[in-house]
Amino acid sequence: KEYTKEEILKLAEANDVRYVRLQFTDLLGIVKNVEIPVDQLPKALDNRIMFDGSSIQGFVRIEESDMYLAPDRSTWLIFPWDTPQGKVARLICDVNLPDGEPFAGDPRSVLKRVCEKARQMGFSAFNVGPEPEFFLFKLDENGKPTLDLNDEGGYFDWAPVDLGENCRRDIVLALEQMGFQIEASHHEVAPGQHEIDFRYAEAVEAADNLTTFRLVVKTVAREHGLHATFMPKPLYGINGSGMHTHLSLFRDGQNAFYDPEGEMGLSETALHFVAGLLEHARAFTAICNPLVNSYKRLVPGYEAPSYIAWSGKNRSPLVRVPAARGMSTRVEVRSPDPSCNPYLAIASLLAAGLDGIERELEPPPPVNRNIYMMTEAEKEEAGIRSLPSNLNEALDALIRDQVIMDALGDHVLLHFIEAKRIEWNMFRTQVTEWEREQYFTIY
Ligand code: GLN
Ligand code: MG
Ligand code: MG
Ligand code: MG
Repeated sequence: KEYTKEEILKLAEANDVRYVRLQFTDLLGIVKNVEIPVDQLPKALDNRIMFDGSSIQGFVRIEESDMYLAPDRSTWLIFPWDTPQGKVARLICDVNLPDGEPFAGDPRSVLKRVCEKARQMGFSAFNVGPEPEFFLFKLDENGKPTLDLNDEGGYFDWAPVDLGENCRRDIVLALEQMGFQIEASHHEVAPGQHEIDFRYAEAVEAADNLTTFRLVVKTVAREHGLHATFMPKPLYGINGSGMHTHLSLFRDGQNAFYDPEGEMGLSETALHFVAGLLEHARAFTAICNPLVNSYKRLVPGYEAPSYIAWSGKNRSPLVRVPAARGMSTRVEVRSPDPSCNPYLAIASLLAAGLDGIERELEPPPPVNRNIYMMTEAEKEEAGIRSLPSNLNEALDALIRDQVIMDALGDHVLLHFIEAKRIEWNMFRTQVTEWEREQYFTIY
């Protein structure tokens, strides 16, 4: 709901809100905030709260560091937990330059720009429904996370095996109090692993929701003596955590992906969108799977994709078209993981799909068999390429893809590449325990 300034001030007063967090997201998707006492709220709502952008990852140099926060009034929310000082509320903000123009390094403005492009192409909404997964680990007596999982449950297990259940239920309750519509929550395949699915929303709101979601999951887990992590592959040998992302475009209130007469009940638009996703998959992987660790998840054997293909039936490819049709027609991209910056990830997926629509790309035939059972020759025959096998390869693919680069814009692109090359080089030169185990005595 888009509140007016006056409504927000009234709500703050009526609910005895003492502090307001003005929230925004840095380049790497980490939520930052400036907390103001409630008497500063009128000033904040006039976009007059300033902060120093030079200390935020991927923002700017010292000499141009004055930035202003422009709260999005539809994001007003009072946190359901009490602090000793009273209630705390939050507003998600855009980041503006002193002249009021959007700051090019603000991931939220990147996503808004790509959404605007979709609108110019005649689409009235771009809906995004994520399925984030995460692990719960026990905390030790000093409150430090351990590598002990909190249960030994498996897919859709019930308590008492699933000790995460109480924690997960409290997470769901907190989210519901904050206005989330939870569609499902269940134990995932790996021990200690969970998934909570919430209702799709338009792109920017969906990305906002993901930042809130991660915060709530971590906060509630801590109250249960647990550490929640969205690290994509915390443990070797068991499934990692993905974030399947369901996408659909609407035109004049109608689902633009649905065509009862079309092949598989899909419209030309849907097929072009899928083709665009496949075309740009190697490049958007850098954004949707941004950690060195992300690539330990994208390997065969753990229900995560590693090949670029699509299917209406099989669950192993990168892009799956779920069976639902009519208003629920959508495509599911299975590669993203929950460590991504949700604004940039959604922006890059949308840009990929829109490019497919603009250029009227045709997707290759769907692959309805298990790609992992195909031989190299069969894969080559079917034109099935692999996703990048590490962060460096993904970055190389990104800087060769003009569409995804344009979607991010120069500012974000340069800072992202720079930060990620450093991350890769640090990792690349590490000597790991595994190497010593393998080589130390034999050689
Ligand atoms: N955890 C799997 C992944 O890494 C997904 C499992 C599932 O949702 N079926 O993507
Ligand atoms: Mg799921
Ligand atoms: Mg899942
Ligand atoms: Mg799924």
